[in-house]
Amino acid sequence: MSISAHDIYADPAFTMATEQFRVIADYLDIDANMRARMVYPKRAMAVTLPIHRDDGRIEVFNGYRVQHHLALGPTKGGVRFHPGVTLGEVAALSMWMSWKCALTGLPYGGAKGGVTVDPRTLSLRELEALSRRYMQEMIPFVGPHTDIIGPDMGTNEQVMAWFMDTYSVYKGYAVPEIVTGKPVAVGGTAGRREATGRGVVYLIERALDILKMQPSQCTAVIQGFGNVGAVTAQGLAYKSGMKVIGLSDETGAFHRAAGIDIDLAEEYVKVHGSLAGFTEADPISPDELLTLRCDVLVPAAIEAVITGQNAGRLQCRILAEAANGPTTPEADVILAERWNEIFMIPDILCNAGGVIVSYFEWVQGIQSFFWNETEVTDRLFRTLEQAFSTMTRRARGAKISHRMAAMAIGVERVLAAKKSRGLFP
Ligand code: NAD
Repeated sequence: MSISAHDIYADPAFTMATEQFRVIADYLDIDANMRARMVYPKRAMAVTLPIHRDDGRIEVFNGYRVQHHLALGPTKGGVRFHPGVTLGEVAALSMWMSWKCALTGLPYGGAKGGVTVDPRTLSLRELEALSRRYMQEMIPFVGPHTDIIGPDMGTNEQVMAWFMDTYSVYKGYAVPEIVTGKPVAVGGTAGRREATGRGVVYLIERALDILKMQPSQCTAVIQGFGNVGAVTAQGLAYKSGMKVIGLSDETGAFHRAAGIDIDLAEEYVKVHGSLAGFTEADPISPDELLTLRCDVLVPAAIEAVITGQNAGRLQCRILAEAANGPTTPEADVILAERWNEIFMIPDILCNAGGVIVSYFEWVQGIQSFFWNETEVTDRLFRTLEQAFSTMTRRARGAKISHRMAAMAIGVERVLAAKKSRGLFP
């Protein structure tokens, strides 16, 4: 199945997600009749979002929401504010969410949303206006039993609170379960902000366990220092006891063989807004960062950073894909050949902690019955453990890569649901 340039979803990320699906569909021998039904989103919505800028101009932004499949329940997925957002990228992210939810046993189809904007160029007032306008436009399209929104790159708890408020004002009563990742003060769950990074750390420790490696003797390199990257860095440095020797964000990459002080880096970002000008480590090129010799490499930023060009040069023992889609299909072929050298934790498992705890938040919101952080984290680890052991068993048994195994489990579950429900009329 190939994506033509005229396809509304035509985009490198959608082509990548489609190619990944094709590999799995061939492996599982999925009927040609089912393939397009599995790949193409069920529904997509594109909106224009005019807002007043602080200087008096009116500026219009493009926003999207894509619901990938509805076979297992409502759809679920984050909203990304990033200058690179396109409809096709959002569609790709929604497809990955579908396989992720199915792999971890959540009763959701995948969704994703986005606005093509660099949120750092907006004042707080402008960000609020854009967030509220996005939610306003989405009201006919989303709902706590149709499509539940959450955070992603460029959005945070505050944006979720504005989404929740806008939707609730329209309804006339509080509807906390329309969004996840909101502040605890408005019905968010304990442990959501940390969930994705905590899950990444848990899975890295499981991999180290299998490889019989001691965390305290390991080094880590992390690309991206936002929600996921920073919580992962904190966990690896201060919980697992690893030395984080490489760190980056979109403004620069840094190396320090003796280990970077993560608290100091966080403090620096709080004050300066990014790692630009950080002097506690040596600046290096972004490509150098990914190919540093280390035990654990964690891409926690954007898509397609591990490519056919650098996959052969990675020098890590574990590749933990905290970002969505960090590895291209060309790189995957190379990494599959290097399975004995590099233990891969594929994205749909590695960063699933976020959607798992979002699911807990949704369940708590619907029941108006809240759990404490220990309950949330225990359940998170149990859910991840189940998915991790199912994936590793399948990979070992069938002699396939971890990505193939994880995707095969997710795709099979969606396929089974679609087949059971049939095609109407
Ligand atoms: P964020 O906006 O909080 O942080 C993103 C970080 O990546 C920032 O430090 C940014 O400077 C950096 N970055 C952006 N472009 C970069 C580049 N080219 N090179 C190096 N660094 C770059 O976003 P986040 O929520 O941490 O999300 C990061 C990734 O994790 C995304 O792929 C997202 O889809 C995925 N993810 C996030 C969650 C979640 O709960 N937040 C859940 C699952 C998956």
